[in-house]
Amino acid sequence: ATPTALMVGTGRGAQLGILIKGPEVLESTRKVDTVVLDKTGTVTTGRMTLLAVHTAASTTEDEALRLAGALEHASEHPIAQAVARAAADRTGPLPAPEGFAGVAGLGVQGVVEGHAVLVGRPRLLAEWAIELPAELERAHAGAEAAGRTAVAVAWDGEARAVLEVADAVKETSPEAIRRLRALGLTPVLLTGDNRAAAESVAREVGIEQVIAEVMPEDKAEVVKGLQAEGRTVAMVGDGVNDAAALAQADLGLAMGTGTDAAIEAGDLTLVRGDLRVAADAVRLSRRTLATIK
Ligand code: ADP
Ligand code: MG
Repeated sequence: ATPTALMVGTGRGAQLGILIKGPEVLESTRKVDTVVLDKTGTVTTGRMTLLAVHTAASTTEDEALRLAGALEHASEHPIAQAVARAAADRTGPLPAPEGFAGVAGLGVQGVVEGHAVLVGRPRLLAEWAIELPAELERAHAGAEAAGRTAVAVAWDGEARAVLEVADAVKETSPEAIRRLRALGLTPVLLTGDNRAAAESVAREVGIEQVIAEVMPEDKAEVVKGLQAEGRTVAMVGDGVNDAAALAQADLGLAMGTGTDAAIEAGDLTLVRGDLRVAADAVRLSRRTLATIK
């Protein structure tokens, strides 16, 4: 082949805000027909805000926020940052958790001021045999039906609150999806979040195919499944939970605004985290390879 053309393509990529791991990456880009997009932090800004706090009768909003916020302060998840920020704003400096563990795709657990605290999906609470009382169950279902993300808060063996968070679609995302479609690519939204929240984002940006409630370790399996259908798959993601899927994809595109794990797993980095540049990357590689022939 002509390494010069590939080198030129690589240099042009850098000008566009695309960092390419090696010239051979451009080869796989050309054949891509499907683009799998992570939701949080990729299609959406990933800056979530706390919108509502629902508490069980025995609990105040401040209590729930303080304990949940103290634990979430130790987590990097966008939900965690929203909860910790709101908790500090409303209740003052947060106590340091004594023990902390993130449970991928489910939430966080740890000890705050002597209380064993859980924050996350109801499934995380269920693992500790904690059920949501009817009033919190209703709040949780209502939030999800409204397209928001809801997490439950429990301590000392009892569910105490449901927190509603949401983030916004990036302004550039609808345009990015249009450009990807114009290149003949089929977009697919992939997320660990609930189906209603995922579908509301998909509608907003113009994606029809949604795969929701996928555990982090299963994201790579979803990519594998699409490849088994004969598709050539590009994956775009930003999180630690996207790394395996980025590596599995024929082409992994990491958001430069995302985690190191994603950037290391990807073949390309979109330096500014602008999804529109994903389409530029595909166009660039097609053009570069056309030049070679
Ligand atoms: P995504 O694919 O959107 O990045 P994740 O796989 O990271 O989602 O998380 C899936 C779900 O797990 C979240 O929607 C949330 O319900 C729960 N979760 C994960 N991490 C946390 C956390 N730190 N605090 C609360 N809930 C969490
Ligand atoms: Mg993400």
